[in-house]
Amino acid sequence: MGTVVDAAIKEANGSATEKKPSVVFVLGGPGSGKGTQCANIVEHFGYTHLSAGDLLRAEIKSGSENGTMIQNMIKEGKIVPSEVTIKLLQKAMQENGNEKFLIDGFPRNEENRAAFENVTKIEPKFVLFFDCSEEEMERRLLNRNQGRDDDNIETIRKRFKVFLESSLPVVKYYEAKGKVQKIDAGKPVEEVFEAVKAIFAPEHDKVAAA
Ligand code: UDP
Ligand code: MG
Repeated sequence: MGTVVDAAIKEANGSATEKKPSVVFVLGGPGSGKGTQCANIVEHFGYTHLSAGDLLRAEIKSGSENGTMIQNMIKEGKIVPSEVTIKLLQKAMQENGNEKFLIDGFPRNEENRAAFENVTKIEPKFVLFFDCSEEEMERRLLNRNQGRDDDNIETIRKRFKVFLESSLPVVKYYEAKGKVQKIDAGKPVEEVFEAVKAIFAPEHDKVAAA
């Protein structure tokens, strides 16, 4: 092991010879608190947080050839083609090297979901779903002031519609497989994190005891 030949095989097979990382998908409407809670989970449970939206925004900033297309889609609240987002996620996982990832804001539709599974062969360990009323999400988005192109009322309405029509079916898909951990996300951050902790803590203990 660890010979030049092994390295060459690894290189040729991509990640095929490496151990697949463990992935938790973090889903919920825009403004449901995914990013905020992911930061808390990272701090307590040793995961690496990958926000699909943040990776796409970084891709725009980097001046890549897809940048303008991505920017236009985000502005319209539309879902960027799967291959673009999946490539960014794969690259981020490989470069990071951790074995546990929170993938936040992805998959956003059935096509995203199926393509991710086909390309990476990774099945999520579970799906953390932040359930929040539109009224509360709208209030948060309009108050957060992060200078995002898509946090205006017109785009927010479009994002809500895409969430209901395209993203909720993904949650339903995993619900049918018994993989969804649903959190009441309409409460203050600390209270929501208490509920989140209860989901990750047993898993954490198991790993620590092993
Ligand atoms: N987006 C996308 N595919 C993804 C994640 C994000 O196309 O897998 C785009 C989409 O246009 C979305 C925007 O990026 O509306 C912002 O996503 P983000 O997850 O940052 O927003 P949030 O839901 O956290 O407010
Ligand atoms: Mg986010």
